[in-house]
Amino acid sequence: MKTTIDQVKNHLDETVTIGSWLHNKRSSGKIAFLQLRDGTGFIQGVVPKSAVSEEVFELSKTLTQETSLYVTGKVVEDSRSPLGYELQVTDVEVIQEAEDYPITPKEHGTEFLMDHRHLWLRSKKQHAIMKVRNEIIRSTYEFFNQEGFVKVDPPILTGASAEGTTELFHTKYFDEDAYLSQSGQLYMEAAAMALGRVFSFGPTFRAEKSKTRRHLIEFWMIEPEMAFMDHDDSLQMQEEYVSHVVQSVLQNCKLELETLERDTSKLENIKAPFPRITYDDAIQFLKDQGFDDIDWGDDFGAPHETAIAEAYDKPVFITHFPVEIKAFYMKPDPDNPNVALCADLIAPEGYGEIIGGSERIDDFELMKQRYQEHELDGPAYEWYLQLRKYGSVPHSGFGLGLERTVAWIAGIEHIRETIPFPRLLNRLYP
Ligand code: ATP
Ligand code: MG
Ligand code: MG
Ligand code: MG
Repeated sequence: MKTTIDQVKNHLDETVTIGSWLHNKRSSGKIAFLQLRDGTGFIQGVVPKSAVSEEVFELSKTLTQETSLYVTGKVVEDSRSPLGYELQVTDVEVIQEAEDYPITPKEHGTEFLMDHRHLWLRSKKQHAIMKVRNEIIRSTYEFFNQEGFVKVDPPILTGASAEGTTELFHTKYFDEDAYLSQSGQLYMEAAAMALGRVFSFGPTFRAEKSKTRRHLIEFWMIEPEMAFMDHDDSLQMQEEYVSHVVQSVLQNCKLELETLERDTSKLENIKAPFPRITYDDAIQFLKDQGFDDIDWGDDFGAPHETAIAEAYDKPVFITHFPVEIKAFYMKPDPDNPNVALCADLIAPEGYGEIIGGSERIDDFELMKQRYQEHELDGPAYEWYLQLRKYGSVPHSGFGLGLERTVAWIAGIEHIRETIPFPRLLNRLYP
């Protein structure tokens, strides 16, 4: 019977066949050890000379890395292997013999690995990162479904941008100008007025000209939008959501976090509530720390975010940014209209901003005023203004960057390893 590596636990002492690739091997005169992988996991196949035919033993010794195989054997318990099981091999059938594999267990440079991303993905570390990514996506759907959200898909080709035009990818839409979506936000507000609580999960595009370890050109964003929820309600939803995701990864990706050598003690305490600090206090804190490159009215850079994060052992909300450095749709604080009812959520350990969010302007006249200040006009924007005419309600939303979140939870230094095929400033292949 054919099975998969994650299912061998259900076949103890039975003989199974696994479709797999040879990850690596060791052999001596009497025994060969085959490290097999099939995407669901890794398992060791033991081939004792005494237990298989001469032919199978000789074949096992000469197999090349990444050769595809059907391996048949008995599932036995093995407390030394991370999986807890190994396979006592009785037969090996080659599907395709792999040529000399370019990625060997020795060290390779980053550019080389990036050029071979299509193969690099097969490594144990990359496999673990993709599994963590998948668990974040799975638990995201779980959380928002539990909370009564409806998944809505905003368009990717748009006639207008949500946040200004400098980082926009321009394209043609027949005879019209169009842009690749930087955020589904404006559409999600319309969806929230129709469905109450909505979330999206999709690709977004930003022509970021700077090379940092936190910015991709194409990244995936989760954007919830909630009717009848104010700024504080939104912060609560965010901290509960992020806690749920972290706890789900801890529970369901134990082997992967081990492979990644992630210090899980830094994740176990990630539970709501999260600390909050105002923008004003954050500026003061940085000045007290000796930063002289930041003033009231500036946005934070990576070193500032890291310094603030280091003061906490959980993600921290920085709230009430100056209105002028935030998007036009953010609601001013009624107690101090110079600042917005908004927050960035900064991950611990220097992984930077993972969420940006705010309460939205719900007053028609104020939004109209913002349109004039930002020179927003034409059919690309008119519909959004209209939302404030027909039963406008307090509403809030936020955007979480998936890859930033993967980098933090999996403990990955550079964001390029958190997405299968990263689009970077100088890289469009593979
Ligand atoms: P940053 O300040 O780090 O450039 P931002 O404030 O421009 O981020 P937002 O517009 O608030 O980003 O987008 C929401 C979230 O999307 C961010 O909190 C972050 O998690 C993620 N994000 C933004 N830009 C990128 C990018 N270029 N690559 C990967 N993730 C990104
Ligand atoms: Mg940015
Ligand atoms: Mg930011
Ligand atoms: Mg932001």
